[in-house]
Amino acid sequence: MIVGVPKESFPGERRVALVPSVLPNLAKAGLEVVVETGAGTEAGYPDAAYTEKGAKVLPSRAEVFSTADIVVQVLCYGSNDKTGKADVPLMRRDQALIGFLRPMGAREVVEEVARTGVTAFAVELMPRSTRAQSMDALSSMATACGYKAVLIAGDVLPRFFPMLTTAAGTITPARVLVIGAGVAGLQAIATAKRLGAVVSAYDLRPAVKEQVQSLGGRFVELAIEAKDAQDARGYARAQDETFYARQRELLGRVVAESDVVITTAVVPGQKAPVLVTAEMVKAMAPGSVIVDLAAERGGNCELTRADETVMVNGVTIIGRINLASTVPYHASQLYARNLTAFLQHLTKKGKIELNLEDEIIRDTLLTRGGEVVQARIREFFKMPTLVAQGKA
Ligand code: NAD
Repeated sequence: MIVGVPKESFPGERRVALVPSVLPNLAKAGLEVVVETGAGTEAGYPDAAYTEKGAKVLPSRAEVFSTADIVVQVLCYGSNDKTGKADVPLMRRDQALIGFLRPMGAREVVEEVARTGVTAFAVELMPRSTRAQSMDALSSMATACGYKAVLIAGDVLPRFFPMLTTAAGTITPARVLVIGAGVAGLQAIATAKRLGAVVSAYDLRPAVKEQVQSLGGRFVELAIEAKDAQDARGYARAQDETFYARQRELLGRVVAESDVVITTAVVPGQKAPVLVTAEMVKAMAPGSVIVDLAAERGGNCELTRADETVMVNGVTIIGRINLASTVPYHASQLYARNLTAFLQHLTKKGKIELNLEDEIIRDTLLTRGGEVVQARIREFFKMPTLVAQGKA
């Protein structure tokens, strides 16, 4: 089968779905690769690097779609709400599509993709299991975001991160608070520690305390306990407004004492909880910085504006989205390895084998034969149960 890599079309996107170094492994799995010209250029992978590894470079997006049996993208229509729609007429019933599809985004968009007949796999739905770890693109991208959030904060912060002992006196280290210690949060803690900051972190899932401490962070304990904090898949459960209000009240002091606050708190399929209010921002020292990694989902800070930087009372609030795209070389490398592991899992002797008994395939399979087939997503959108559901 032929795997096609179109150039990413989301404005400002610099990543690419496959990098040249994974092509030999795909060839071993019986998969040929075609790449749209320039697809990898912005990530640091020129056309020649792909041809050297056996790929064919095609001159247009339309040709990649018409040649490929499997199209792989970073941001497919769904997660690409700016230009992704243009791909809809290019999708085919006898074709597979793999990438970020934002399956819990807009129902109309998921249905529009389904109507093309394409067999679409949403990488966001990858189970968080040991078996699927090598295919977990969400974690790869969260790693890039957590790392970059700290660098961006450091760039804006009018202070040093590390403690410095100089002839001109001692500089005290920056105090960094990370709210939400999932994959992005843990990477932010590690990065801020490496830069010499004093790092604290808070998460409503008490299970992460040890992970925070193992990275040298102080775990902030609040006198409040979340109900059923974690679901079976390890994700945080949404809490009621009384909980969030109490949480904000208790977090206020810790936020006020921090020079940098990095927020990453999200709950799958929901608007991000507001954990830092305008009032809490007012209590922060001028020059402090908030990097809100939940900006795209509404933001953890009341003052965040998605993809904008705002300054309130001398506090900079950064709501940049798509941060993984700002580390395109390594973000693409990680993503390409995740996709390669998935493609190796999905195919046998170069052909797709849709084994729906397999959790990895069943969970990620979003649309097929004109329908949205993923049971959890149908339930999420309150769609009627499919007759063949379960067998999908
Ligand atoms: P995420 O991006 O869904 O959320 C980020 C963090 O925000 C989470 O730690 C969550 O608990 C936290 N959060 C949500 N609401 C909050 C609130 N009100 N206050 C404070 N914190 C709040 O998380 P993620 O990084 O995708 O990780 C989700 C889970 O998946 C974790 O349990 C993680 O360990 C697990 N995981 C497992 C694997 C694997 O086994 N292969 C891989 C990656 C992640």
